[in-house]
This record gives sequence, structure tokens and C-alpha cells, in this order.
Amino acid sequence: MISFRDLGIADQRALLQEASRGGYAVPAFNFVFMEQLLSIVDACIERRSPFILQSSSNTCKNLGIAYIRALAAASAERIKQETGSAMMALNLDHGLNYEECVQCVDNGFSAVMIDGSMLPFEENAALTKRVVDYAHRYGVAVEGELGAIPGTEAEEEHGNVGVSSCYTDPALAQSFVEETKIDCLAVSIGTSHGLVKIRPDKNGNLPDLRFDILAEIERRLPGFPVVLHGSSCIYPEYVRMINANGGSLECVQGIPEESVRRASRTNVCKINVASDGWIAAFAATRKALAENTAAIDPRIFLRPARKAMKDLYIRKIDTIMGSAGKGEQSG
Ligand SMILES: [Zn+2]
Repeated sequence: MISFRDLGIADQRALLQEASRGGYAVPAFNFVFMEQLLSIVDACIERRSPFILQSSSNTCKNLGIAYIRALAAASAERIKQETGSAMMALNLDHGLNYEECVQCVDNGFSAVMIDGSMLPFEENAALTKRVVDYAHRYGVAVEGELGAIPGTEAEEEHGNVGVSSCYTDPALAQSFVEETKIDCLAVSIGTSHGLVKIRPDKNGNLPDLRFDILAEIERRLPGFPVVLHGSSCIYPEYVRMINANGGSLECVQGIPEESVRRASRTNVCKINVASDGWIAAFAATRKALAENTAAIDPRIFLRPARKAMKDLYIRKIDTIMGSAGKGEQSG
């Protein structure tokens, strides 16, 4: 058993409570490779933003839990040295089962998500409660999910289109939180994993996020942190850069930046960012490879990819999360 506290990793519950009080959101940045991890830490140190480093279940398997733990510990050490704060939590994104969550709790994670959203309500609640009972013994936060967010993480990784939406019912959300004692809840309000986030209605208009659902959850559960998944903006400049350099991304539609910014000022205290980071990395990589056709040194594309991701994460912090400077006091 290695506690997150021993690794200098922040308590996610404290980060989200601060965000709830302060009217901003903590960015939760997924990483799948080393340059991405570095760019996340670069950006958050520069902007003094608290953040949640996220590893999916696949990334845990791909890198191995020992690497994740060591990379997170090294990141926490660098952040402490450069800012004097402990402003990085470590979360398992979309944990698939109880055993995976236990493994992460035992390996220095300060939060785990158990995704039982595809199960019937009572089964989802029972599984989530079991994870909470274990995690809370060690001060580890638990995120549950209610109302399936369209698109799976696997679909996101393969750029496929998500399935139809199923909005979160605020009354069920209240029962779920009360039954399970989770620390934060992922809700479905019209966002979607993968590349197509929202579809135009029959008049060709893009529907907005369901802020009425957020408001009703806030009324029932005052101050309780809500989490947004699948809210990447899919910036057209990166899509153009990809397509100008041999790519063929079609028909992509992100969530407008203003909508996510509006959400960050509500009870939404954690906003996940995965696809947008990958798209920035791909845009820079394709451009570098197109401009250096005879190169064999991987740093030819890794350096611009790191820079592009850092710029993207800074943009998220400044224009959406409102979290810049909020890491000064952490830890
Ligand atoms: Zn998700």
C-alpha cells in the first residue's frame, strides 16, 4: 500500500472543494505517452493551475502501474520544486471494475473513477459503493457515473462516432450520491466521447448543453462537484493542420468553447480533456513529418508535439477552466 500522500500527490477532494467555492473547474488531463505528460505539467506549472492527471484503464495496462506511479511521483516532485505547491491529483479514468480501482488506490492514486453507467441503477450503485468503502479508508476520492455519456473510451481512441445520448436524471443523481457516498459525479448533459460531440437538429442548429439538468442537480445537491466528460472543442485550426499534412479527419464537431466555459462556472468542478490534446499532438506531428521527410530522429516530431499540447492545455486553463493561479495555495 503506497498512499498518494507519500508521493506528494494532492487530495482530489480538496482540489474540487476549492473549485466549487471558487466558481472554476479543475482540468483533468488524460495522458497516454511521455511527451503528453510533460506538456501537461509544463502548462500547469506555468499557469499555476491545479490539475488532475488522468490515466485510463488502458493506459494503466499499457505502461504498467509501476510506471504510472513513478511518473506521477516525479511530476509531483517537480511541481513542488518549481511552485512550492502540491496541486496535482492522480485519477483513474473510467475504471472498469472493483479490482482495478483497488490496484490504483494501493499505488498512489488520490482518486478513482468507477464507471458502472452501463449497469442498471441498483447494480451501478452497489459496485460504486463497494469501491467507495475501500477508497475512503485511505482518503482516496471516488467518481461515479450516472446516465451513460455517449461513445466509449475505445471509440474515442479510434475516432469513431458515439452512440445515442442518455441524459442524467437529477432525482436519480441525488439518490445515487446519497446511496454511494461518492465524492463527484460524471453526468450526461449532451457531451460525447470521440470526435462528433453534438449533432445539428432538423433545422441545422447545434443543441446547447443541458444547463437545466446541472441547475437541478445543484438545487438537490448544493456544492456537490459534478464532472464533465466528452467536452473537447475540436479546434478547427488543428483539424485543418492535420488535413493539410496528409490526414483525413472529416465531419468533426466539438462542443463550443463558450458552452464549456459556462459550465465551468457552475457546479461542474472537473472537466476532462483527452481528444483535444491528441488532436493538437497529431497536428504538430503530421506537420513536422511532412516538413522533414528524410528525418529519423523522433525528436523532430516529439518537440513540436509537446509544444502544441502545452499551448492547448494553457488555452484550456485560461479560456475554459478559470483555474490559472488557483494552484498557488494548494498543499
Ligand atoms: Zn469519459
